[in-house]
Amino acid sequence: MRTITLINGDGIGPEISDSVVKIIKASGAEINWDIQTAGADVIEKEGTPLPQRVLDSIKKNKIALKAPVTTPIGRGFRSVNVQLRKELDLYANLRPCKNLPNIKTRFENVDLIIVRENTEDLYAGIEEQIDENTAHSIKVITRQASERICRFAFEYALKNGREEVCAVTKANIMKLSDGLFLESYRNVAKYYPHIKQREILVDNLCMQLVQDPTKFDILVLPNLYGDIVSDLTAGLIGGLGVAQGANIGHDCAVFEPVHGSAPDIKGQNKANPTALLLSAIEMLKYIGENTYAQNIEHALFKTLANGNKTADIGGTLSTTEFTEEIIKNLG
Ligand code: ATP
Repeated sequence: MRTITLINGDGIGPEISDSVVKIIKASGAEINWDIQTAGADVIEKEGTPLPQRVLDSIKKNKIALKAPVTTPIGRGFRSVNVQLRKELDLYANLRPCKNLPNIKTRFENVDLIIVRENTEDLYAGIEEQIDENTAHSIKVITRQASERICRFAFEYALKNGREEVCAVTKANIMKLSDGLFLESYRNVAKYYPHIKQREILVDNLCMQLVQDPTKFDILVLPNLYGDIVSDLTAGLIGGLGVAQGANIGHDCAVFEPVHGSAPDIKGQNKANPTALLLSAIEMLKYIGENTYAQNIEHALFKTLANGNKTADIGGTLSTTEFTEEIIKNLG
C-alpha cells in the first residue's frame, strides 16, 4: 500500500480533504494517508505553521496531497506555501486549465497548461526599506532556474503530446532579468525542434487570453506572472473551486488546489472539493494509478454533467451531498 502525506490544511481545508479522502477510498485505491497538520492551528503548540515533521514526512513519502494552509499575516512567519516549495525544491508549479462538463463559461475548448517557476523572482523575499517613503523588492532571475523550468515545460509537452510552449515575459522593460529568462527559454528550445515555439509579453498575453484562450497551449512563466496569469485562467474555466495544481521537484511532488483556505465559507459545508479532487487525480496518475484516476475523473465529470454542483459553480449541493453523488457515480 502506498503511503502519501496528507496536509489537511485549515479554513475549508479539512472539509474538502475529508471529501477527497472518502472518494479515493470508495474508488478502491489503496492509500495509507500520513496525516500532517500545519498552518495557523498548530502555531500555538509547535511555534511555527510549518513544523519540521511535515517536511520530514514529505521527504520520506515523496508525494503529498495538500489542502490550503493559512499563513497568519504580520506575525513574522514566512508563507507556508513558499517555504514548502523552497525547502523541498519544488521548482515547477503546474496548473492545467481545462473546461469541465456543464460549467458554463465564456469559452469552450479551453485547454491550457501553466508552467510557473516556483523558487525565485519577486518571491525570493528580498525586500529593503530604504527610507520611510521608499521600499525595494529584488527580482531574482537565474539562468539555472530559468533553464530548468523551460526544460520542464518542453519535456511536459513531449510526454503529453502538446504542440507549443510559449514563453511569457516583460523582457522589453526588464531587459536583464526577464531578458535572462527569455534567453534561457531560447537556449532550451533549441533541443526541442518538434515543439512549436512562441514568445509573448505578459500584458499582451492577458488581453489575448480574455479574447480567445484557445489560441494558447503551454505557457511557461517566471513566478509572479505565473501566479497572476493562473488566477486569470482559473476564471476562464469556472473559478477557483475547480482550479487544480501541482508543485513538482526532482525528489518530491506536492499536489494542491490553486485556491486559498476561503475563511469566508469555512465550516459551512459549502466548499467545492473539485479543485483538490482534480489535484488528487493528477497525483494518482503521477504515481501510476491510472485506472483509479480515470474512474474518479469519470465519476466527477458524470456528476457535473448531471447538473449536480456546488454553489460556487451555479449548483445547490453541499460539500457532503456533492461528495456522495461522486461516490455513487464511481464505476
Ligand atoms: P489566499 O491568499 O490564501 O489565496 P484568498 O482569500 O485570496 O486566499 P481564497 O481563499 O482562494 O483566496 O478565496 C477567494 C474566494 O474564492 C473566496 O470568496 C472563497 O470563498 C472562494 N473560494 C475559494 N476556494 C473555494 C472552493 N473550493 N469552493 C468554493 N469557493 C471557494
